[in-house]
Amino acid sequence: MSVEKLIFEKGAPGRRTATLSALDVPAEPVENLLPGALLREQPAPLPEVSEIEVVRHYTHLSQRNFGVDTGFYPLGSCTMKYNPKINEDMAGLPGFAHIHPLQPDTTVQGALQLIYELEQYLAEISGMNRVTLQPSAGAHGELTGLMLIKAYHQSRGEGERHLVLIPDNAHGTNPASATLAGYKAVEIKTDASTGGVDMDHLRTLLASYAPQIAAIMLTNPNTLGLFDANIVEIARLVHEAGGQLYYDGANANAVLGITRPGDMGFDVVHFNLHKTCSTPHGGGGPGAGPIGVNAHLVPFLPGPLPARNSKGEYYWADAGPQSIGKVRANKGNFGVLVRAYTYIRSNGPDGLRHVSESAILNANYLKHELASDYEIAYPLTCQHEFVATAQRQKDESGVTATDVAKRLLDFGMYAPTVYFPLIVHEAMMIEPTETETRETLDAFVGAMRQIAEESRSDPEVVKTAPHTTVIGRLDQALAARKPNLRWTPGQETTH
Ligand SMILES: *Cc1c(COP(=O)(O)O)cnc(C)c1O
Repeated sequence: MSVEKLIFEKGAPGRRTATLSALDVPAEPVENLLPGALLREQPAPLPEVSEIEVVRHYTHLSQRNFGVDTGFYPLGSCTMKYNPKINEDMAGLPGFAHIHPLQPDTTVQGALQLIYELEQYLAEISGMNRVTLQPSAGAHGELTGLMLIKAYHQSRGEGERHLVLIPDNAHGTNPASATLAGYKAVEIKTDASTGGVDMDHLRTLLASYAPQIAAIMLTNPNTLGLFDANIVEIARLVHEAGGQLYYDGANANAVLGITRPGDMGFDVVHFNLHKTCSTPHGGGGPGAGPIGVNAHLVPFLPGPLPARNSKGEYYWADAGPQSIGKVRANKGNFGVLVRAYTYIRSNGPDGLRHVSESAILNANYLKHELASDYEIAYPLTCQHEFVATAQRQKDESGVTATDVAKRLLDFGMYAPTVYFPLIVHEAMMIEPTETETRETLDAFVGAMRQIAEESRSDPEVVKTAPHTTVIGRLDQALAARKPNLRWTPGQETTH
């Protein structure tokens, strides 16, 4: 019998959790309440269980879930840092949790103040003029930002600009958002020595296509974890060509209080509050991807925007005539905004800088400790993450990045992001974040070294991992093409 059957096929006919006393009023026959055609002929095949069975079932399921509260989660690019519980306490306050988005402004002044102030904090952190909190995720911020850029170009009679330059190491959402916004993505090469934008290639693209270029999308530090020192020159060149600069802020955990995209020359910035400002994420949500813009893009922002009158009262101000319109129902993903506000307030300016400095220190420590066993894609000082590879292991014994990632699960740790960025073979993108202790980092190094040793001495144990998880190695192609997301009685769980 499979494990899944033991978990799911519980109970016995007639077993109950609660017993109601007998009905002491006349019962209406069910046929009078529902049309006959809708009535079941057979009772639904539901488990009949006692209370303790239900409690154990759900508690057991919750224990199978891996999360940052359970163990180390070095998933590069996604910033899986610890989510302080005070954020949850604040989001759960009845005055925040029980309000309705359409309540009159006068009855939700506290919530409006939070939104108003969060906007200002994010503007300050990013060095931008104004912020909208509407977008629900980073990708949604990207789309919104590109729509603003498009509206701006059109307002100047330059609507023919239709190309967006994107580095070959960019996150997949960048070209996807550009395409969705009606633009054509053009790839910029990475400089093999610096890991930054290949400046010669950029100059060539700008020389060939300047009048057609709408924008460049960059993240700095980029997905290799490297800060592009040419950023001011890049901004100058792109602006000279008439293009706008879009900052993918998913890597903001490296720059808090140290530098600002606005100071680097960017025109639009998105935040991933669920990453940088520590709200629980993964599994598709929830998230928030506010964007900040420079003054020339403010007239195009989605509305309404929070405002404050001379009496200190907060209200929603309608967007102006050039606004691109709303990009989301209501005012944003409010619960995430409360958590992000709490995070920023509880850290303060010095605390936020300390967050980034510690994130950078932790990443460089791991990079240094792993360099004897794994190739490092660009062996330079990194920011909050770096890319190691399993190329040596693959050449020596056929152990791949996937195998290393799966084997890590046996050590009770989540795996790094693998096979991204696409320009690095057998990539393992490692982001420890600032919230981990020295002991945890050392335990990770120990696990990675053991896996490197196993790859030499007993590669099968790595190639067939994981061995200790509830579900072992999956057929990845089958799991992707024919995902089995629903349990049915009597079925073996194989993928
Ligand atoms: C996570 C991420 C995104 C997309 O953000 P979502 O909130 O997942 O939509 C974009 N770029 C980079 C570099 C990221 O890591």
